[in-house]
Amino acid sequence: AGERIAFIGLGHMGGPMAANLAKAGHAVAAFDLSEAALQRAREAGVTIAPSAAAAVEGASVVISMLPASRHVEALYLGDGDLLARLPAGTLVIDCSTIAPASAQRVAQAAKARGVAMLDAPVSGGTAGAAAGTLTFIVGGEPAVLERARPVLSAMGRNIFHMGDAGAGQVAKLCNNMALGVIMAVTGEALALGVAHGLDPAALSGMMAVSTGRSWATEVCNPWPGVLPNAPASRGYSGGFGNDLMLKDLGLAVEAALGVGAAVPLGELARNLYALNQRAGRGGLDFSSVQQLLVKGE
Ligand code: NAD
Repeated sequence: AGERIAFIGLGHMGGPMAANLAKAGHAVAAFDLSEAALQRAREAGVTIAPSAAAAVEGASVVISMLPASRHVEALYLGDGDLLARLPAGTLVIDCSTIAPASAQRVAQAAKARGVAMLDAPVSGGTAGAAAGTLTFIVGGEPAVLERARPVLSAMGRNIFHMGDAGAGQVAKLCNNMALGVIMAVTGEALALGVAHGLDPAALSGMMAVSTGRSWATEVCNPWPGVLPNAPASRGYSGGFGNDLMLKDLGLAVEAALGVGAAVPLGELARNLYALNQRAGRGGLDFSSVQQLLVKGE
């Protein structure tokens, strides 16, 4: 039987995720500040609510997919004060990528009200959101995850339970910090080779089966023309935006400060993506960091 689900935040990710829940037979009531986003959701079979408070009316599950920590805290604790409206036993799943400390704050407030909460940031991008093949990286109590599993399965394929509240966010940030560093150093290596007259495709092909191999050499190669399906080969359009990578690296650095961890390469990479943003490539795929490292730029 379908659940009655409230979905808050119908952007690039939330829109298709809500559509997949409706397609799976759940009754979805959704809210977004953007009229265009609401319109698209309505066309996908989602019921539109006039506010977040109206969307959660009678819902057994609440899902949010918002830009950043401040939006999530405002919704559940601040102006929105949504937690106060939820009956005990309601399941709340926040899929936004936010600061672990922020996720813990909301989860703690939820617990105090008898509301079960998971942080469940995702990996897989807009293509994964549309195809229903997202990976969920989850923090929270195991029993709560079991309750959430059928709902998550309508939007994704893989579910990783990383630990208590906030652990999903920590794991997501660790993955993206590694990704950000690996992409930048791959661009650096390719630029070095090309400056010495090497063919970037030949260099990438060798690296892709050698010890320098990674997702950056094999799938999302940052040098234009090396892989026809990579964002680099279509002017760095689509893919995972530079500004989103910059945001996630900022969260990783902030999380490191919170526990006194050293993340020298993560901090360096954060600065590279900030410079890439300043060069006018904030809206392009993050592999456009390659352009910062090309000789002559
Ligand atoms: P987005 O900006 O496209 O969507 C966010 C939506 O939230 C917007 O439609 C906005 O109008 C809405 N919103 C903001 N405040 C609101 C409020 N108070 N009430 C209702 N709606 C509100 O962002 P996105 O690309 O969908 O990303 C969402 C989250 O997922 C981010 O944390 C992002 O880092 C993460 N993420 C994104 C990707 C990706 O490829 N886009 C991949 C993985 C994770």
